Amino acid sequence: MQPCLPPLDAVPRPSWRAPALACDCHFHIFGPYDRFPLDAGRHYDPPAALIPQYLRVAEALGIGRMVIVQPSVYGTDNRCTLDAAAQFGLDRARVVAVVDPAVEGPVVAVLDRAGWRLTHILNTHHHNDHVGANLALKTRYGCRIVGPLADRDRIPGIDLALAEGDTVTLGDATARVFDVPGHTRGHIAFWFADEKALFCGDTLFALGCGRLFEGTPDQMWASLLKFRALPDDTRVYCAHEYTQSNARFAVTADPDNTSLAARAGEIDAARAKGDATVPSLLGVEKATNPFLRADDPALAATYGLKGRDAAVVFAAIRSAKDRF
Ligand SMILES: [Zn+2]
Ligand SMILES: [Zn+2]
Repeated sequence: MQPCLPPLDAVPRPSWRAPALACDCHFHIFGPYDRFPLDAGRHYDPPAALIPQYLRVAEALGIGRMVIVQPSVYGTDNRCTLDAAAQFGLDRARVVAVVDPAVEGPVVAVLDRAGWRLTHILNTHHHNDHVGANLALKTRYGCRIVGPLADRDRIPGIDLALAEGDTVTLGDATARVFDVPGHTRGHIAFWFADEKALFCGDTLFALGCGRLFEGTPDQMWASLLKFRALPDDTRVYCAHEYTQSNARFAVTADPDNTSLAARAGEIDAARAKGDATVPSLLGVEKATNPFLRADDPALAATYGLKGRDAAVVFAAIRSAKDRF
């Protein structure tokens, strides 16, 4: 497959710069995936000559998903990190993880330029636009692949399968794992409490939620309630930049929500400038995302379901969005 890259002149200058190796940031965010001009979900390994172009496109538009950088020493109590350290023959090592890599080229280009070596892939679910680059990156870097236990047979190259209540430690950052079925049967999310970061894949989106491909509305509502219990200052790193179209639907579901109306205006302004809307703040999602508000009487009223169970209202909202 030959991707259709925009001409270089059409690509804005990147604002991101590879941090120095001494950088102690936990998360470097390359932005939502969807504006990257590749057919999401298809594996494509760009020829070397195209790498500079990829790099600029990736930096300007976002390679999608997140790269986590951990400069600290490996812990001594985590099998996953110890294995990785042994594998690289390192006693002090840098942890570099990518969440849900769809395609190899942009990830490699960014890592190469930064002088980083990938140690981990975190997968939230089996869809090919989240695991498409697993095997290629594992072959190249020998990285460890962490993914959902319930879907371990559908995660290419998986080494460590996790489920509700498990933790995964990357350097000195620890993520708690939630089982969040609904979009797929075996979807998980990674919550880094200290870093206030939630990697929720396709379960929760800014002003939206994932389609129910393999789960029921009851399951998805229960999954979203797990997120709603997290602190308001959690940053939501969802996997797609669907926010603007989600906002168009959200205002029809919750028309009297003034916070939502204001946010929809801010999103239009951000997108008009080409800015990403991810990550968002969980507290803002709680106040404005209709899929987190199915137990609010206003949402029930919109769908003529006053007094009905929240899961029933949630199902009505999701179904209205599917037809929107
Ligand atoms: Zn998906
Ligand atoms: Zn996806």
